[in-house]
Amino acid sequence: MLDVSSRRSKASIAAAATARTRQPLNNYLSDAAHFPGGHAARIVAPRDTSEIPGLVRNAQTLLVVGAQSSLTGGATPMGETLLSTEKLTRILEVGEDLVTAEAGVPLATLQDTLARAGAWFPPIPTFTGAFTGGVVATNAAGAATFRHGSVRGWVHALTVVLADGSVLALRRGERTARDLGVPIPRYRMPEVEKVSAGYYAAPDMDAIDLIIGSEGTLGVITTVTFRTLSPIPTTALAFVPCPAESAALALVADLRRQRAVAAIEHMDQRSLEILKEDGADRRCDVRVPAGTSLALLVQMELPPGTTESSAYDQIETSLSANAPDTALVRVCRLLQAHGVFDDTEMALPGNVRRAEQLIALRESVPAGVNQRVGRAQQAVDGRIAKTAADMIVPFECFAEMMAIYRRGFAARGLDYAIWGHISDGNVHPNVLPRSYADVERGKDAILEFGREVARLGGCPLAEHGVGRNPVKQALLRDLYGDAGIEEMRAVKRALDPGWKLAPGVIFPAPDAGP
Ligand SMILES: Cc1cc2nc3c(=O)[nH]c(=O)nc-3n(C[C@H](O)[C@H](O)[C@H](O)COP(=O)(O)OP(=O)(O)OC[C@H]3O[C@@H](n4cnc5c(N)ncnc54)[C@H](O)[C@@H]3O)c2cc1C
Repeated sequence: MLDVSSRRSKASIAAAATARTRQPLNNYLSDAAHFPGGHAARIVAPRDTSEIPGLVRNAQTLLVVGAQSSLTGGATPMGETLLSTEKLTRILEVGEDLVTAEAGVPLATLQDTLARAGAWFPPIPTFTGAFTGGVVATNAAGAATFRHGSVRGWVHALTVVLADGSVLALRRGERTARDLGVPIPRYRMPEVEKVSAGYYAAPDMDAIDLIIGSEGTLGVITTVTFRTLSPIPTTALAFVPCPAESAALALVADLRRQRAVAAIEHMDQRSLEILKEDGADRRCDVRVPAGTSLALLVQMELPPGTTESSAYDQIETSLSANAPDTALVRVCRLLQAHGVFDDTEMALPGNVRRAEQLIALRESVPAGVNQRVGRAQQAVDGRIAKTAADMIVPFECFAEMMAIYRRGFAARGLDYAIWGHISDGNVHPNVLPRSYADVERGKDAILEFGREVARLGGCPLAEHGVGRNPVKQALLRDLYGDAGIEEMRAVKRALDPGWKLAPGVIFPAPDAGP
């Protein structure tokens, strides 16, 4: 029977945001990717945005960082002056449908402030400790991209300090990239919901789109103005164990078609084994029935004011002909039609504890994988590192992409787990390395996957950006070719001829060779 728990409270992943009290330079030499070799002579953390033009003008090279939650090494200094935005924490204005904040405001703080005004910022990525400037610089995306798109679509205005110290105020729709004297690259970006693969390019593109996703290489973002929505919807979650991948994909296709959900997350069989091995299923009080081959976590946005009891009534009546046409009823009908309703566990609006358990279960997958990588690094070979991809394909190609991942990993004798944002066709294949040779084989597999994903019309760099990661930089080169990288370099040269800002991020600096 469908398990509808009765405990109340509000789901939130804000707990993931960590308070950062850092002072010594050493604390800033690595980001969440643990990219090796970070070093910097100096760190500056201005309290006022007016200090930034002078700091940029006087620096020889400069790397701006936010929360350093980058998974690409893009926020790891390699000898530059480090400019931390962590003290730029003012929220300057909360308007009816806009919010203006300095670049160092953590998303969790932004969301809490907006909530007090009855509004919210929808395209929130999983890590809510990331800063406003950081999520713009990487064009972050997340589970809810399916409904709300990536951060790009929510940026209304930016203030940016360019490499020469000049200040650029950009408002969407007011200036094209050409107005800035920038040569527009001619490569064609993949037509998928998430693209975090170097510079945005489109004929007559808006200047603001050039800065979004530029990973600190074109300018320092000092303030951002985001569009916001109100009222705040209530949310419900459904954990759906599925007996077979084909059955799950058919369900996801129907859920997508009916636009009944905000997001659908996916955990493959190996991910579920990891949850069991680590006892996460017991800790989160979630039953994964025997014979489950993958599980989905479906997130619904329900009208504000939907209560647990009214949601329960909708579920009870969902099979009757006169049930109201609500998202919840549509989801329940599809779960019934696909034969997975009875094993589904739900967290209804207001049931924070249950929602937190379901979210914690999903987050236990990357945590479990990262722990295994760390243990192998300690016990087997210090060179072992996280070996993972972040690729997206049009949903119609999702089954083919999964088959490619499985074949590619199996052919190399690798252990792996795959999870992610299935509603966007964006999942994260991760190697579980037992040796350094597994890491090398995993990188080889990822490069092969990138070529296949591009062939399927997808993007091998969906959410996290390119950063300094050599495999990601190789994926970018494979995607756009040498000519495409040269076009990006021409953009960089137009705005930063001295290669001052974030040299080596996205593509190698000129003195580093091709
Ligand atoms: C547990 C976890 C979960 C994650 N989940 C997601 C997810 O769901 N989706 C997603 O997209 N990412 C995710 N990430 C990656 C990361 O959170 C995002 O890339 C985020 O946007 C980085 O923000 P930040 O403030 O930490 O920036 P940093 O990591 O500090 O910097 C990232 C890049 O942006 C540049 N930058 C930072 N601030 C500025 C600025 N003010 N002006 C110009 N450039 C700047 C830096 O130079 C660097 O190149 C996750 C990371 C972790 C650790």
